[in-house]
Amino acid sequence: MASYTITHDLCSHMSSRYTHKALKHEITRAKEALEHFPHDKASLDYWRYYIELCEVTLATTKDSAPSYTINASELKKSLNLTAYIGRFTELHTSGIDRYSGLCPLHHDTAPSLFVYSARHDWYCFGCLKGGDVFNFIMFYNDCSFREALALANSELRGSQLSEVWV
Ligand SMILES: [Zn+2]
Repeated sequence: MASYTITHDLCSHMSSRYTHKALKHEITRAKEALEHFPHDKASLDYWRYYIELCEVTLATTKDSAPSYTINASELKKSLNLTAYIGRFTELHTSGIDRYSGLCPLHHDTAPSLFVYSARHDWYCFGCLKGGDVFNFIMFYNDCSFREALALANSELRGSQLSEVWV
């Protein structure tokens, strides 16, 4: 008799972590584990419980979107653009909510890059590039918008960088 219990909270938690498709995959994986793992009673109990938990979650919760939906405008607002660009070049205060520094996107000899922190955007008077943080990441890494979004998102969620983004 398994000592595990299945609660509504647990199902909600599972549902927030896994889509229904992923839950079905988990069930398949657990059934394979049941067949192939050494069948001591503890692991049998665990895998049977895990299958039941996935099945109950499937039956009692709505299919949820993956918890990793990225909202570009929220992401932009939740990060500190000055701190982010400041990782690539030294920025100095240059007015209210305005910072300047040597542009890391071209060979700059005088500070041509301006970052407007309150507006969440930047502009370089040397190479005439500008935009928001995603544009900066795209220019700096020569990548697509999608890749820039993913990169910003993963950095935001990385604990060691959280202070840069808050
Ligand atoms: Zn520039």
